[in-house]
Amino acid sequence: MAHSFDVIIIGAGAAGLMCAIEAGKRGRKVWLIDHSAKIAEKIRISGGGRCNFTNLHTQPQSYLSQNPHFCKSALRRYTPQDFIALVCRHGIAFHEKKLGQLFCNDSAKQIIAMLLAEAHEAGVKLETSVQVRAIEAVAGGYWLKTNQGKQTCASLVIATGGLSIPKIGATHFGYEVAKQFGLRVIQPRAALVPLIFDGALLARCQALSGLSVEADVRFGKQIFAEGLLFTHRGLSGPSILQISSYWEEGEPIVINLAPSTDVLAFLKVQKQHQPRLHINNVLAEILPRRLAQSICDERNDSGPLANLSDVRLAALASAVNDWHIKPVSTEGYRTAEVTRGGVDTRELSSQTMEASKQSGLFFIGEVVDVTGHLGGFNFQWAWSSGYVAGQYV
Ligand SMILES: Cc1cc2nc3c(=O)[nH]c(=O)nc-3n(C[C@H](O)[C@H](O)[C@H](O)COP(=O)(O)OP(=O)(O)OC[C@H]3O[C@@H](n4cnc5c(N)ncnc54)[C@H](O)[C@@H]3O)c2cc1C
Repeated sequence: MAHSFDVIIIGAGAAGLMCAIEAGKRGRKVWLIDHSAKIAEKIRISGGGRCNFTNLHTQPQSYLSQNPHFCKSALRRYTPQDFIALVCRHGIAFHEKKLGQLFCNDSAKQIIAMLLAEAHEAGVKLETSVQVRAIEAVAGGYWLKTNQGKQTCASLVIATGGLSIPKIGATHFGYEVAKQFGLRVIQPRAALVPLIFDGALLARCQALSGLSVEADVRFGKQIFAEGLLFTHRGLSGPSILQISSYWEEGEPIVINLAPSTDVLAFLKVQKQHQPRLHINNVLAEILPRRLAQSICDERNDSGPLANLSDVRLAALASAVNDWHIKPVSTEGYRTAEVTRGGVDTRELSSQTMEASKQSGLFFIGEVVDVTGHLGGFNFQWAWSSGYVAGQYV
C-alpha cells in the first residue's frame, strides 16, 4: 500500500524532533505534528529558560523504571557526548552548572532553533495545531484522521510526553493510544515535584518560607544530598524534587538538616566547654538562625546547655540529623517537572522503541516508563530514545 508518509510522529517536543531529524536523514518522508500552536514549549521553559540539555554523568542508575535495564541500550547508542557534539556544531555556548549539568549560556531557544534547523535540513514536514481524532492499524501501517485530513504511514511514533504542566499542552494522548492497541501503561504520577504538608508542620514551613539549607533527604534506600527549600506549601528544592520521584503516599521521608555534623556529639562538647551558652545560639552555629530557633521552639528547648539533659539533647539532635516527616501529597502536575510511569517498557523493544505486539508503532521520550533524576537526564532520555527510534522507523 502506498502511504502518504513513511513516518508520522505525533508530538514535536524534544523526543519527537530528534526522531524526525534522524528518520529524515535516512531519507524517510516524515510528517511531524503537534496539537499546540507552539512546539517544544518544555524546552523553552526548561532549566529556568537556559535548558539543562544533558548531564555528563548520565547512567542507567539516573532513571526510574519498572525495568531499570530498559534505558541502557538507547543511552549507550546516543550519549551526552553525541548531543554535546551537535550543540557545538551549532555554535551554542554552554557551561556546567554543577554535578555534570550542562546549560546554555544564553537561552533554551537556541536548542529549539538548532533542532528546527536540523529538521528542516533533513526534509521533515512540520505542522502545528494538528488534532489527531482517530488512529487505526491498516495493512502495512496506520491510518490517521486529523483536522488536516486523513493520512497514512508505515511507522507511527508517539512522542506526546507526560502529564506535567497541562497549561502548555500536556495530554493523556500517548497513554490512550497505548491502551487502544492493548499495551499496558504503568500508572502515571507527578514526579520531580514539591511536597506539601498540613497542620503544625505546614505552619512551620510557612514561617520559614524562602529559607534554604543543604540537606540529605532519604526515602527507603534512596538518598539525595542537595538543597532543600521551605515554601508556603511545604518543601521544595532539588533534594526534595529528587526524592518526590521515589516517595510513596502515606510514608515518611527522613531529612538530615546538618549532614556534615553529628549534632549530638557537637552539643555534648559544647555543653562541656560552654555550659552557659543558650541552646538556640549553639544550634545557630550549624543551622540558619531562623531554622535553629524553629526547632528549639517546636521542642520547647530553651535556656543554657547546662540545664538540658543528655536525653533532651539527643532528641534535639535527632530532630536535626534524623527528621522524620510525612508529606500529605505533592503539588501535582501543575508544577511537576516530569511524569513517572507511562507505557510499560515490557511492551517495547529497548533496541528500537517499537511495540513488540504492534508492528510499526513506536513510543519515545517521557510517555515511556523511564523517568530521569533532576539535572538534564530527562532530555538525554528524550534525545536517546528519539535517536534510536529514528534509525528504525
Ligand atoms: C518546567 C520544566 C522544566 C524542565 N527542565 C528540564 C531540564 O532543564 N532538563 C531536563 O532534562 N528536563 C527538564 N524538564 C523535563 C523535560 O522537559 C521533559 O522530560 C522532556 O521535554 C520530555 O520530552 P518529550 O519529547 O517526551 O515530551 P515534551 O517535550 O513534553 O513534548 C511532547 C509534545 O507533544 C505534544 N502533544 C501532547 N499531546 C498531544 C496530542 N494529543 N496531539 C499532538 N501533540 C501532542 C505537546 O504539545 C508537546 O509539544 C523540565 C520540565 C518542566 C515542566
